[in-house]
Formats: sequence, structure tokens, C-alpha cells
Amino acid sequence: MQRRFIPALMLFVALLLLLAGLGARMTSVPAISFAAETKEIYLTFDDGPSTSVTEKVLDILKEEDVRATFFIVGDRVQGREKTLRRIAAEGHTIGVHSQTHVYSEIYSSADALLRDAESCAETIRRVTGISPRVYRFPGGGKHPASAKLLRKRGYRIVSWNAVCGDEEIRGADADTLYASAVKTAEGKDPVILLLHDSASHRPTAEALPRIIAHFRAEGYTFSAF
Ligand SMILES: [Zn+2]
Repeated sequence: MQRRFIPALMLFVALLLLLAGLGARMTSVPAISFAAETKEIYLTFDDGPSTSVTEKVLDILKEEDVRATFFIVGDRVQGREKTLRRIAAEGHTIGVHSQTHVYSEIYSSADALLRDAESCAETIRRVTGISPRVYRFPGGGKHPASAKLLRKRGYRIVSWNAVCGDEEIRGADADTLYASAVKTAEGKDPVILLLHDSASHRPTAEALPRIIAHFRAEGYTFSAF
């Protein structure tokens, strides 16, 4: 081979090696498909804090090493400051679910809703030192105008796509709640599961270990907002 072709040949070989390397990287998809197979569930508890149910829920989450999100009602914090601080101290997320949970007041105007949200946020700040960044509309729904204003104030609006039925099914026992959580979450990823931890929801706490076990067995990881 003529000597003057050698640099060109070396360049060609280097280019081939580079392409081969790129190809190898592109075909190493298992890491990518593994990420896609990681399913996620968010356990979200509304309407607390309560003394009995929230504390029980926290005990279970601690035992299971699971983080959750608590959308709290500001007016229900008084006398339960310790419980609210425990939610924060154990690594869960505290979100705003209104100060009063009285629909006629909150939804009377966009201004009223913002004032109410701020009032709840202030309660959370005063008790825990944390500024909440997530919001859930009382009663659910979309409320696009208010959502826009809340987003402007830095809130992420969180809805749900599965329910355990503790508000929807009157008098539901733990078995029913577990079955509803499983059924309504079927095939979803991520799952955002609605649960309640106000005082009347003992069966929810009772169903929680089974709910966690089910989604864990299904390959879900538990996340908080
Ligand atoms: Zn609520």
C-alpha cells in the first residue's frame, strides 16, 4: 500500500470503530426498557389530619417504608399539630386541600379560592416550616381558571385516577376498599390513588397494608409528589 494512503485508512478505521461503538450503545436497550417497566403509584390521603386515622396510616407507611402525599384541611390542624409535624418529619409530602373544605365558600370566586389556599398554606408553614407546593381541589374537578392562578403561584395541581372508594362507597369495609383500589387502578401507570385519613376512615387504614402489598407485588414503586 502506498504510504500516502495510510492516514486515510487509519481515519476510516477510526470512523468504523466510532460507528460500531454508537451502534452498540443504541442496541443496549435493556436499560431503557427497564426504566419503562418501572411502574409508579402515588398514595394520596385527603381531608386530614385526624388523630386516630392519620397516626395509624403513618405507622403503616413507616413500617412499609413507603412515602405518601397528604392533602390537608387547614382548619383540622388545630390540636393535631404534632400529627402534621410527624407527616413532614417522616418524609411525606404535605399539600393544600383548602382551609375549610366548605365548597360554597371556596368556589364562590377565584379570589376566594386563592385566599383559602393561602390560608391553608400558611397553617402548614406555621406548624411545619414547609411551604406546600402541591394542591388538590376539594371535591375534585378541573376548575381551569383557578388552576391557572394556582399554577402561577407555584402550585402543582394533583388530581387522581384511582380510588379506594372510602368516600364513594357508603359504609365500605376494608375488603371493599382494597378491591376498589385494585380494580380502579388496573392497567394504569402512574396510579394516583385517592384515600382519606379523616377520623371516620378507619377501614382505609385497615385496608392499607393489603393495598401496599398488592401494588408492590405488581412491580410498582411508591412515590410522593
Ligand atoms: Zn376532600
